[in-house]
Parts: sequence; C-alpha cells; structure tokens
Amino acid sequence: MSGDFQFTEAFARSLDASDPLAQYRSQFHFPTHKGQEVIYFTGNSLGLQPREANRYVQDIMDDWKSLAVEGHFKAERPWWTYHEALTAPMAKIVGALPDEVTVMNTLTVNLHLLMVSFYRPEGKRYKILCEEKAFPSDQYMLKSQLRTRGYSPDEGLVEVAKRPGENAWHTEDFIRAIETHKEELALVLLGGVNYYNGQVLDMKAITAAARKARVMIGWDLAHAAGNVALELHDWDVDFAAWCTYKYINSGPGNASGVFINQRHLNDPTIPRFEGWWGTKRETRFQMTPDFDPMPTAEAWQLSNPPVLSLAPLVASLALFEEVGMPALIAKRDSLTAYLEFVLGEVARETNSNFEIITPEARGCQLSVYLHGQGRPLFDALMEQGIIPDWREPNVIRLAPAPFYCSYLDMYRFGKLLKAAIESLA
Ligand SMILES: *Cc1c(COP(=O)(O)O)cnc(C)c1O
Repeated sequence: MSGDFQFTEAFARSLDASDPLAQYRSQFHFPTHKGQEVIYFTGNSLGLQPREANRYVQDIMDDWKSLAVEGHFKAERPWWTYHEALTAPMAKIVGALPDEVTVMNTLTVNLHLLMVSFYRPEGKRYKILCEEKAFPSDQYMLKSQLRTRGYSPDEGLVEVAKRPGENAWHTEDFIRAIETHKEELALVLLGGVNYYNGQVLDMKAITAAARKARVMIGWDLAHAAGNVALELHDWDVDFAAWCTYKYINSGPGNASGVFINQRHLNDPTIPRFEGWWGTKRETRFQMTPDFDPMPTAEAWQLSNPPVLSLAPLVASLALFEEVGMPALIAKRDSLTAYLEFVLGEVARETNSNFEIITPEARGCQLSVYLHGQGRPLFDALMEQGIIPDWREPNVIRLAPAPFYCSYLDMYRFGKLLKAAIESLA
C-alpha cells in the first residue's frame, strides 16, 4: 500500500477527500496554536472533546437546577438509570454481551475491585503473571494486592520480558511462561495494547493458553478500547477493565468500563465488594438489609453513578454507534500507514534514523526511537503546534486517532518535522 503513497500536500488532500470518516473531524473541538488547529497525536492519552459533550453536561446541570432530587426519576434521562444507556454501545466496542459490561468508578479502582473477585490465591497458587515494565499504576496495583494478601511482591510477580535487544514481545513467550508457572499462578493480568511500544498482544491466543492452564485471566484495555478489535466474549476472557478518556474521548479522569464474563455472573461463590447499586434495580429502593444482586456485571457496582461525569461519555458513544469499530479500524490502518510512510520520507530526506519500535501488531500508535535526536527536537515540534508525547530516553509516541486526525495532518507533521530537524542541525 505504502508503495502508492506520496509525500505531497495534494496527495494528502486526495486521501482526505476519499475518507468516509473525514466529516467526523468537525464533531470534535481542536486546541489551536497561532490560530491553526494543532496536529494532535495524543488521543492515546486524552481524546479530544466531542462537540456534543457540553450539551449533555448542561442538560444535567439544568435538570439539577430545576428538578433537584426529582431528577433521579424525572429528568429526561433519569439519573438513577443514567449509566444503563452506556452498556450496549460499550459492549459493542469490546465485543461483549451487554450483560457482561458496566461503566463505573475509574480504571485502577476497578482493577482492584476485580482482583477481589478474580485473584483468589490458594496454597502455592498465588503468583500473578504480567508483562515486564507494565504501566506503573498496574505495577503498583499488582504489588499492593500481593502485599495485602500477605505475599512478597518480589516472589509473587512473574514478569514476561522481551528478548534481549528486541523491542516487542513474542506471543509464544507468554504462552510458555503460563505453561511453565501454571502450578503456582493464580492470575494472568496483562495490558492488551502496551502503552510504551504500542504493541497489540495476541489476546485471543494468550487467553486460550491461560484458560487451558486453568488460570484466571484479566486484561487492562486502557490503550485497546476504541482502538483495536476486541472479542472479549468469544475469546472467553475472565474479566477486563479500561478507561474511557483515551481513545473513547470521554474527558479527563473519566469513568472506566468493566467486563465480567457471563460464566462468572450469578456465581455466589465469587467474593466481591458490594454496594447498593449492585442490588436488583426493581427492589433497590426498598432498602432491605439483604443484598440481592443484579444478574449482570452491574452486581459489581457500588455507588450511584456520577452522572455529570458520564454525560460526555454518552455524547462520545453516540459517535461510536454511528461509525462503528470496523470503519474506525480501516481508517486507522490507512492513516497510520501514511504516517509511517511520511516518517520514512523525512528520514530519507534528512539522513535521520527513526526507528519505529512498534511491531506490526499495532493499533494507531507508532512509537519512534529518535536516534541522534532528543528532547530539543520534541520541544521544537511542540513549538510548531504539534502535540506528540515524550518518553525517556528518546521515544516519541504518535497516535493519530482515526476519529479526528486527517491525512493532511500527517503531511503537515512531516513538513514541520523536516524543518525542525534542519533548523537544529
Ligand atoms: C492510562 C492507563 C491507566 C490509568 O489508570 P487510571 O486509574 O484511569 O488513572 C492504567 N493502566 C494503563 C495500562 C493505562 O494505560
């Protein structure tokens, strides 16, 4: 495909002209730099604001003002069931049955709650398998779980490393590690898309290996949800959680989605921390002392939903419903391929060495190791209205989210990158 690409403005514009999703760019607010929309590469960190989001938030402010407590039942979208509208569109994004999904709390909180249910160490089966250098919050979470249950984090964590000198993991290394350690593992918990190198793990194969070894498996899908194809139900994943403010564009620090496999619903032997929003909705307000759980993933809910925070998510999911993951993924592949081509052209024209450390199994993120260049180049790009992200030692992460980034953005980025390199030389 890249054989047909050209590094010209006319060519980039022609790709935009034939892009079926091009119109969605105008559904989002772009920050500006010197009067021009920025080139936004950090949709993997905080997605842009959907234009409609404000209206949904305002509706709740208005209902609160005019209805006060009656808004729970009399608002146009009653607050006591506000979260329920999120379930079906969210389930579609992650390939789940609606009963298997709910939206609540935030990601790290949910991973802890899910570990109460699905990390059940017994005898010498107490270890947790994860990837080496997992996202720091996940490492803190896993280590504190081990300590709280009376285990040493050093002995309790089995980390799967990349092979020496390589930038990506091998699927077979996870599968072999699960096989090797299965008698001592209580849980496998991995990031579905790695935040640093952008690699998409073979979630289907690794889940199958864990299931075969009879080890519980959960996925942190922070960088996967809304970015890559997920089939959580068909892969038979035990549980998963993801945030919604990255590729799902719900706003800073916003709520987290949770998946609990149908196999585990209505199983009274599973331990769980409980609250009133997990009880049956029909009898919730009878306020009885006995917990009568929802027959769905909502049994794991604790509190009444933070509707003000969920409002922008309603706006965002409406766009996902309209477009669908297959169309987003098709544009993602073509847009990222064009970015890769542009990087290659700039490297050639400037004699630079950009090493893309993201393997072929990728979503929309390219992590680029800037040999011979460093922080000054990154700073020069920021000054030109480009928003990438920087990771030590000298990796920039570029994630052109297909919902709102254009081919022209990629072309303009290439031109500005070339100029920045030349000005620093
Ligand atoms: C972004 C991210 C988080 C963030 O967790 P919060 O609880 O939402 O702050 C956690 N894990 C991974 C892998 C992430 O990429």
